[in-house]
Amino acid sequence: MRRSVVVVGGSIAGSSLAYFLAKEGVDVLVIEKNNEIGLKPCAGYIPRFLFKYFEIDGIRTKIKEMKTVFPSGKEYFSSMRGFIVDRRTFDRGVAEQACAEGAEYIIGERVIKVHGNNVYTTKNKFEAEIIVGCDGINSIVGNEIAKVPDASLYAITAQYETIFKIDDESVAETYFNVEYAPGSYVWIYPTGERSAKVGLGVVPKLAKKSAKEYLDAFINEKIVKAKKIAFSSAPLPLYALRDRIVKDNMLIIGDSASTTDPISGAGISSAVFSSKIACRAIIRALEEENLNELLFYEKKIRDLLGKRLNHSLNKRIIVNEAYSSNEVLESKLKETWIAFDEYWQDLTKQLSHNKKV
Ligand SMILES: Cc1cc2nc3c(=O)[nH]c(=O)nc-3n(C[C@H](O)[C@H](O)[C@H](O)COP(=O)(O)OP(=O)(O)OC[C@H]3O[C@@H](n4cnc5c(N)ncnc54)[C@H](O)[C@@H]3O)c2cc1C
Repeated sequence: MRRSVVVVGGSIAGSSLAYFLAKEGVDVLVIEKNNEIGLKPCAGYIPRFLFKYFEIDGIRTKIKEMKTVFPSGKEYFSSMRGFIVDRRTFDRGVAEQACAEGAEYIIGERVIKVHGNNVYTTKNKFEAEIIVGCDGINSIVGNEIAKVPDASLYAITAQYETIFKIDDESVAETYFNVEYAPGSYVWIYPTGERSAKVGLGVVPKLAKKSAKEYLDAFINEKIVKAKKIAFSSAPLPLYALRDRIVKDNMLIIGDSASTTDPISGAGISSAVFSSKIACRAIIRALEEENLNELLFYEKKIRDLLGKRLNHSLNKRIIVNEAYSSNEVLESKLKETWIAFDEYWQDLTKQLSHNKKV
């Protein structure tokens, strides 16, 4: 049976697309390689506006502020309005809503090849009018569409779920120091009164040891009392959008398209937002029987996310150089970290200039 849409990957991009499409009456099949939905290692910060897309399950804490700690120990507090979610519950909640609207899932089957209208898994072959890659950083569908712009631009993350007494569960902490997390930062995101996700990213070409070793050293120095109850590690794309995100009957969304922010590493909201736009393009393409309608998705994503991602990518290049020493990092932090007005200044100028033009 030929489906209208087959989605490769059932994490947040795949499940939100399945939900949006199924709600519009499109028959959609999601194929997920893992034996369950929601295994993505993630700090789980989501902004409040995601509520407008679907019901949110798995909220652990409500965040009001971000504390940024400079290499010198100086602290800066900024507004940060959102939630920390448990990804397993959050992703499953979206998948449940997709299923309730009629989407189908196949779990525990890896897609090994896509070609034309065919999707080959380790066990089966499926046919689809449109194939969507929501299969993360090493996307099989993405590799059919375009190479990644710079494969050396990525971070390796490591994260523990930990138990220790939290001072203020509405504050998400970030630490910057060349000794803690070269090329990136340490986060302590509270998940309750006595639990937090503690993690970091390192840019491999700047690192002297593994991400896990950096994280263990940070915890031993800063939160000795933390008891570790779970560990995870994953790569994070930092190269901003792939050169193309649509080709023929295929498109890619989320980490597979690399809409992840090259500075903060955040990618959940852009994956959901992109899925919403992709849904519109897919429905038009199916109704008009014209695959060129899928290009609406490429254009909209470049218009709406392209500038911000490029801005972060430019900052990423400065950041990689700033990690030469803590002195340089201290002096560059305000222009390279999202908590500061200085970070946003040139982007705001650019956008207002474009509006005037
Ligand atoms: C440690 C860490 C912390 C993060 N913290 C945050 C945060 O606080 N806030 C935020 O917004 N973002 C965060 N991110 C980024 C965020 O997790 C991702 O941007 C987001 O999960 C992207 O969703 P996605 O669905 O595009 O891809 P993914 O979540 O990577 O999902 C891809 C899915 O595809 C499946 N898959 C892959 N290949 C195949 C195949 N061949 N066949 C079938 N299935 C396949 C995978 O099993 C997986 O389920 C973090 C990332 C990491 C690594």
